[in-house]
Amino acid sequence: MQRQVNHARMVCELADCLAKKGWLPATAGNLSVKVSENPLLFAITRSGADKQALTEQDVILVDEHQRVQGETSYRPSAETIVHVKLYEKFQCGSVLHVHTLYNNLVSQLYFERGSVRLSDHELLKALDHWEEGAFIEVPIVENYHNLEELGRAVEAAATPDVPGVLVRNHGIYVWGSTPEAAKRYLEAFEFLFQYHLMLRQYQSHV
Ligand SMILES: [Zn+2]
Repeated sequence: MQRQVNHARMVCELADCLAKKGWLPATAGNLSVKVSENPLLFAITRSGADKQALTEQDVILVDEHQRVQGETSYRPSAETIVHVKLYEKFQCGSVLHVHTLYNNLVSQLYFERGSVRLSDHELLKALDHWEEGAFIEVPIVENYHNLEELGRAVEAAATPDVPGVLVRNHGIYVWGSTPEAAKRYLEAFEFLFQYHLMLRQYQSHV
């Protein structure tokens, strides 16, 4: 019991921090922290919860089949399937999904290209790319309304060296070995998307 309470609190702390940035508008987004690997169990935000005022009761324990563990009248986030796919693919410790203006704009602008290239920036180090001349390609998938299909698309596009996948005009899924790592990656992605878009805008006026 104590374990689950702690994981629920970790999810609440993540929600608090990300909601303050305005990254979880209108009950959007879903956040999870892994509780155990084998069998897979993770704590995830419930469907429809206001992330700006999340309580531990809004965090639900689910298994790999999205089955709710324990007593609750709530349902897990509708996008829980995407979290399952990422936990199974990477054995990561946390998955964060947010809807922001900048990740939406980037996902639409570069959708036809299939990915957005981020290069020549110090903050790539926060995404574990320390090499000289580092660049990454962040994959972009279609916003399938069938969530099984969305889960499969995110899983297929996800690679170990870039810890995020964009969904067109929807948001981003980011994962990390710990909640802290996932949050660091997410903040780096969002900074780089904003920087990229603003640089593009300034350059178009030169
Ligand atoms: Zn979403």
